[in-house]
Amino acid sequence: MPSLDVLSTLEWLGIVLGATLVVLLPIELVALHRRGKLDWERAREMLASASPVVPTLLTEGVALATLGGALTFVHELAPVALPTSWATAVICFVLVDFLYYWDHRCGHRVRLYWAVSHSVHHSSPVYDQTTGLRVSFVDGFVAAVFYWPLAILGFEPTLVIACFFVMVAYQQWLHTESIGKIAWMDPWLNTPSNHRVHHASQERYIDKNYGGVLMIWDRLFGTYAAEDEPTRYGLTVPIGACDPWTVHVAELRRLIRDLRRAPSLGDTWSLLWRGPEWAPARVTATAAREHDERGASGA
Ligand SMILES: [Zn+2]
Ligand SMILES: [Zn+2]
Repeated sequence: MPSLDVLSTLEWLGIVLGATLVVLLPIELVALHRRGKLDWERAREMLASASPVVPTLLTEGVALATLGGALTFVHELAPVALPTSWATAVICFVLVDFLYYWDHRCGHRVRLYWAVSHSVHHSSPVYDQTTGLRVSFVDGFVAAVFYWPLAILGFEPTLVIACFFVMVAYQQWLHTESIGKIAWMDPWLNTPSNHRVHHASQERYIDKNYGGVLMIWDRLFGTYAAEDEPTRYGLTVPIGACDPWTVHVAELRRLIRDLRRAPSLGDTWSLLWRGPEWAPARVTATAAREHDERGASGA
């Protein structure tokens, strides 16, 4: 049965792509050890990055059921049901990748999504294969919000989920400094170089390279940046801790603090839905005045 072949092949492809961890992580550990950088501090950061795997595994079944349930509900409303074949799988994969671009862009540009979920992936000050594991369990529940249009176009929910799995698994190998630039891939596909840029916190690299597998979406929508200067990782305001609880809630705490200080309901709304750098005008003015006063007293 061809549909079974397509789905099982995609499933195996995802498993193989995700398993690059077992090849690259030992290479990274040896390289870090040789450079004298594999100290206790680094080990703690790597363990902190691996820690979100526990809640993800514990909630995986519910997240998958939520996504599957939402896609199935929408698929039943679809005017046509597309057969699962290699042709529809390729089209579905490209569309999953396109929706992922917007899912990921919202993860960075909508404060609520950033604070509750995606900031977890970006808060490590170091970059290696364990960073690929540093993903909030909340991500699995948000997926239903972004990928339902494929079910209403007629793609089978199982195909959408399989393509999503491959697209996410592909990204594991990107989290490494052991692979430099790849000239023939970098302009078009997501690569370690492109993704290092995405994780970098300096101004020129912020909000760049959102693509999952293809870089064409970043090129089309003006968010592509090549790696042309060394990258610094982590959040612009570091979380300053590496215990698993803080890794998960650091940005959420900051959001709650800012919401409590919001001068109006309109500001509360904007804090939730605008970019993470946005602050109410009154708060921005107070911060600027305090900054000026500190500068004046230090002069
Ligand atoms: Zn990101
Ligand atoms: Zn990443």
